[in-house]
Amino acid sequence: MATIIDGKTSAEKRLEILREEIEDEGIYPRLATVIIGSDPASQMYVRMKHRACERVGIGSVGIELPADATTRTVLDAVGRLNRDPDINGILVQLPLPAQVDTERVVASVDPAKDVDGYHPVNLGLLFSGKPRFVPCTPKGIMTLLSEYGIGTRGARAAVIGRSIDVGRPMAALLTNADATVTVCHSRTRDLPEETRRADIVVSAVGKAHFITAEMIRPGAAVIDVGINQLDGKLVGDVDFDRVREVASAITPVPGGVGPMTIASLMENTFAAAREQLCRNA
Ligand code: NAP
Repeated sequence: MATIIDGKTSAEKRLEILREEIEDEGIYPRLATVIIGSDPASQMYVRMKHRACERVGIGSVGIELPADATTRTVLDAVGRLNRDPDINGILVQLPLPAQVDTERVVASVDPAKDVDGYHPVNLGLLFSGKPRFVPCTPKGIMTLLSEYGIGTRGARAAVIGRSIDVGRPMAALLTNADATVTVCHSRTRDLPEETRRADIVVSAVGKAHFITAEMIRPGAAVIDVGINQLDGKLVGDVDFDRVREVASAITPVPGGVGPMTIASLMENTFAAAREQLCRNA
């Protein structure tokens, strides 16, 4: 039976360490969130991020724009935050409404304040093996792998999903950590064949019960990024009850990857504040 990777406890631990660091160093970072419209899930995520800020001693401000905001309005709001010396980190909550050009908005964030790590400069640094701000979900997963002693050097890893926020940066981080990585997606010819070879499987697809026990090599570690609703319940991509019988370690949903994403955002914000302080010293 697999070890359950307890992301909630790990995240609590990371936040407590960060709170102490912030207090010891006397650097008080400030994070700005930008939310467009009133999507309940986005609002909940932003509220959780503000709560985490409060917990560790990071100041936060929330910019709320109407659902019909134009690309120009969003770019102007980001521009003001870029120029504000009291703001160290900027997070634009995705997804944006269809009329807003997401790519332009993401690229408009000052890379030095890009605590989500989605700016092409920061993704480029990550892909060239010299990461600065790393997208929070894959960063949190690397922390979990390390905390649970799941070795990456020489390991075979299968990442399912190739999004900018999870799949691609996950693959880059695992590659940087000496794993041999296969990136799978909707056009992968034989997905079970790819996953069955892997020592580490990371699923970021967004389909309930997508990863079955037959797709997992006995003893593999399984990281479930998915967030899905099934019969009114929150579940991941992995058929948890069956897969835990073959895997050596597995993240639950909820309580696995999710809390680590927020802890990583706090770490990135502190790192940004520190970097800006050194640059201006
Ligand atoms: P996304 O942009 O929709 O990407 C989904 C990926 O899954 C795509 O690359 C897609 O392939 C691939 N895919 C779809 N059907 C597939 C299939 N049948 N076989 C193999 N691959 C398939 O989603 P995302 O932003 O990466 O998020 C993925 C999931 O993670 C969602 O449930 C999201 O809510 C969750 N999430 C959780 C956290 C957290 O903190 N826990 C953070 C971010 C996201 P193509 O590229 O070929 O279309």
